[in-house]
Amino acid sequence: MNNTIENIVSLCKRRGFVFQSSDIYGGFSAVYDYGPLGIELKNSIAKLWWKEMTQVHENIVGLDSGILMHPKIWEASGHIGAFHDPLVDCKQCKARFRADDLTEKPEGLNWQVIKCPKCGTTGNLTDPRQFNLMFKTHTGPVEESGTEAYLRPETAQGIYVNYQLVQVAMRLKVPFGIAQIGKAFRNEIIARNFIFRTREFEQMEMQYFVKPGTDDDLLKEWKEKRFQFYPNILGLNEAKIRYHQHGKNELAHYAKEAWDIEYKFPFGWSEIEGIHNRTDFDLSRHQEFSGKNLAYFDQPNNERFLPFIIETSAGLNRTLLAVLVDAYWEDKKNDRVVMRLNPRLAPVKAVICPLVKKGGLPEKAREIVDILKPHFKVLYDQQGSIGKRYYRQDEAGTPFGITVDHQTKEDNTVTLRHRDTQQQDRLSIDQLLPIIQKSI
Ligand code: ATP
Repeated sequence: MNNTIENIVSLCKRRGFVFQSSDIYGGFSAVYDYGPLGIELKNSIAKLWWKEMTQVHENIVGLDSGILMHPKIWEASGHIGAFHDPLVDCKQCKARFRADDLTEKPEGLNWQVIKCPKCGTTGNLTDPRQFNLMFKTHTGPVEESGTEAYLRPETAQGIYVNYQLVQVAMRLKVPFGIAQIGKAFRNEIIARNFIFRTREFEQMEMQYFVKPGTDDDLLKEWKEKRFQFYPNILGLNEAKIRYHQHGKNELAHYAKEAWDIEYKFPFGWSEIEGIHNRTDFDLSRHQEFSGKNLAYFDQPNNERFLPFIIETSAGLNRTLLAVLVDAYWEDKKNDRVVMRLNPRLAPVKAVICPLVKKGGLPEKAREIVDILKPHFKVLYDQQGSIGKRYYRQDEAGTPFGITVDHQTKEDNTVTLRHRDTQQQDRLSIDQLLPIIQKSI
């Protein structure tokens, strides 16, 4: 199967899923814009995540915090001190690499003996240098020290600093969770692999506040639940999903235990979600830096403690890329490309086509559009041969094609075409809504 990133990038542009940012200006590196189909797909993924994490769990509530926050938050979180990537440059070919991409244990290594993966020369790599990944800006009219602010590099901190307000307002008892979907920004030095690593992206995070001592079991529970989300809810191929546990020297400064959920992308197994036991690191730091007591009061047991936090942190854009890669299928036998998207996720659920542009068929087709469009997104298409119209929608991932022909006017029946098998059934118009609804 030819689901290379190049093929997916080109399909995304052709069909309106994803465009490179600022295209008419020659592009803007590591930022992407989501087109009409891309935004539908992204919204569907986000909606399923939100439902799974809030509606289905009575003890998890939502939040939408600001992108800009008090700058002290980033001192407390450790991002000002420690949020950087060690980078290595090749003096020969000028390529730049993340040190941890070149070797599992970058510390204390003799870089002079390592070969540059790009030009193949040895002895030209610099020692790793640190780059802070946070975007800085200024609030107010003058750019002076004291007005600095940061674009948040993760949504998590917005949850931590609101945790007590949420807990009191909603009268929550541990364990409870707060979920948030929102933009995050990182000045990634090496951005590549399309929307896998970008400077502006969206996270879907849930922070679970638990009693210390119950953290190991709850991490295990969330790790399993989050894994199941990908095959069961999004319909990804389970053989392409796996866990990766962080070894001792991979653990972030705040983490006691950490797991990644990885997807097998065309460029290799890579993280789509992280599940971390952050202990009481964040709350104790915010308590220290804000001077505010953040302890939770456990009334029945009459004790106070700082909850531990189990974090599930998924990337919306990376998940979307996994969905696209998983769906891409070159149907060589029929000379077509099909996005075999789960009908639940498909941006358009059905295309409605009059066989020809005359004889009352367009009017009849419009009637069907009017029946279906209050329920889900459909498209009317009368442009080109019927085969071409279907193939366009196969690339867009549209699961159903409905064709109105002369017989429709006589007996109110149409043909319903299934995207993956191309099988066609003749059925009456009033059967369409229940059939399509059932599949999504
Ligand atoms: P990586 O090691 O790939 O940089 P990370 O371990 O820094 O990722 P986290 O800080 O755990 O990532 O962020 C949680 C999730 O946010 C990741 O699993 C990923 O899906 C998403 N994410 C992080 N950085 C980016 C980025 N630059 N572009 C797109 N998504 C990202």
